[in-house]
Order: sequence, then C-alpha cells, then structure tokens
Amino acid sequence: MTNPAHANGRIPFDYHVHSNLSCDSKATMAEMSRAALEKGIREIAFTEHFDPKPEDICAGFYDPARYFESLEAARREFALLGLTIRAGVEVGEYHRYRDVIQPVIDAWPYDLVLGSLHWSGEDNIFDVAFYRAHAAEEIMPRYFAEMIEMVRDGGFDVLAHADVVKRAAFSVYGRFDDCDWEDAIRPVWQACIETGIGIEINTSGLRLSVAEAHPGLDALRWYREMGGELLTIGSDSHRPDQVGSGLAAGLDMARQAGFTRVCTFERRQVAGWVEI
Ligand SMILES: [Zn+2]
Ligand SMILES: [Zn+2]
Repeated sequence: MTNPAHANGRIPFDYHVHSNLSCDSKATMAEMSRAALEKGIREIAFTEHFDPKPEDICAGFYDPARYFESLEAARREFALLGLTIRAGVEVGEYHRYRDVIQPVIDAWPYDLVLGSLHWSGEDNIFDVAFYRAHAAEEIMPRYFAEMIEMVRDGGFDVLAHADVVKRAAFSVYGRFDDCDWEDAIRPVWQACIETGIGIEINTSGLRLSVAEAHPGLDALRWYREMGGELLTIGSDSHRPDQVGSGLAAGLDMARQAGFTRVCTFERRQVAGWVEI
C-alpha cells in the first residue's frame, strides 16, 4: 500500500453494480461488464441484493450458489479483456437478520460486503406514503439511529448509500439539507470510524429528482474531518447504461470533501488505494 495506484482521470472502479442475480435488474453480468469496459472502467463489484426481510420485494430471491456460478463465468469471459470483477453483496438490515445472513457471508468468498438500510423499523424507506404520514423531524433521527445500531452490530465492510432516505422523501419534504441533520449523521460516521467500516459515495441519487449523491457533500466532508478514510464509490446501476454513471462527479465531490484516494477491496480486506 506504499505506492498507491493513480486513477489518472479514469474511473478507478464501480463498486455498486447489480445484475439479474438481483430481483430488480434484468441485465446479465456480461452486459454490465461490457458496459463497464466501454466506459473505461477496469474493476467492478457485483453487489446483488440480499434482503431477508420478508416484506422486501427481494426477499427469498438471493441465491449465493447461482451468484458465484454466474460470477465465475463472467470472470472467465472478461479477465482477458482487462476487467477485474469483485464478488460483492448488498445486505439489507444485517442487524435484524444476522442468523440468516452470517452463515451465507461466512460460507462464500466475498471481496466486499455492503450493508444497507432499506427499512426503518417496519417502514419501507422507498415508499412515499411513509413520508406523507410522518414529519421529517420524526423520520430522519429514527432512520439514522437505526443505521448506527446496524453499523455497531457490524458484519459488513462498507455502509451503502448512507442518506438514501432523502430519495423518496424528496417529493414530500423537498431538498434534504445535510446540515439540518448534522447531529444525527455525525454519530453514524463516528460508528463507522470506530468499527472500521467504510462508506461509499453512491451516485444513484444523481439520476433521480433529488439530484444528489448519497451522502451529500457536507456530510462527506464531516466524515473526512472526523478521520474517516475508507471510501469507495459506486453507481448502484441496475441497467447497462447506468454503469459508471455519476462517478466522475462523485470523485469530484470526494476531492472537494478532502479525499485524495479511494480504496479497493479483496477478500473483505482493504487491498489498496487509488489516488483520485
Ligand atoms: Zn440499496
Ligand atoms: Zn444497490
């Protein structure tokens, strides 16, 4: 790790990519891999949804054996073309379904485990009705408090899309200002730093009406100021045209927040750093 690679203006990797091994994507791994290469991206991680909550649309869909079979085929096909494919997974509510999740994570050779919060208690955070029924002052602190609980409980490497709650909330509450929720967000970063869990810049919000990455710039700056170092970046793409989307803007944001590098993962360890 003494000689960090340099991205030289290129997108170093896209560490949040879905394929049809997730319930909500129709794209094959080959299609997503080809799209990455076409955009000059040489490293991706397929981070399929593993959402055990029975009410989740993806519940019961995740199949690690099928995933690794498909991943190995994609690795064989694309290694010669210069694409490194990492074995990832996006786990929902790890802290609530550890008995189901942990055996799977332990049994398979993952490079990167993302931890996500898609539910706040029994409420689906992508359901606009949730925001219509409650005030932001009630929802936001509760959401981030559960996120802290999830981080402290651990089991994953990188906290995914930390403030994704602002996505569906946008149509009800309007713009999400990080500074309004600073007291709720900083403890999330504190928990990440203390447990050695990294965070990602997830650029999917840039494609939506909220028009911001997750997290936003102010919150990302706090993480850096507080001593947060572990940072990855991902498009959360579910279609080939979304692979790598917004990552150049996301890297700009990382630089503005004070970051000079992002980290790569292999077999659930930080494998190296790429200067940005
Ligand atoms: Zn997610
Ligand atoms: Zn995702």
